[in-house]
Amino acid sequence: MSKKIKVNQNLCIGCGACANLFPNIFKMKEDNKAEVISSELCEEDEKRDQEIIDICPVRAIEIEE
Ligand code: SF4
Repeated sequence: MSKKIKVNQNLCIGCGACANLFPNIFKMKEDNKAEVISSELCEEDEKRDQEIIDICPVRAIEIEE
């Protein structure tokens, strides 16, 4: 089953950390919020999932199974 990464737009403060560290998963939009451009790296790697979640200082990144 594939997982889905999401950015909660209400929580994102636009710090850019996720896009800096994982530019193949996130990019910053014009309104300075992050958006997910690809979820594929998240498959079958729970440690990496946790790393991705932990990047965000405001816990705006969510991963759904
Ligand atoms: S790390 Fe969190 S707050 Fe910073 S840009 Fe990414 S989603 Fe937004």
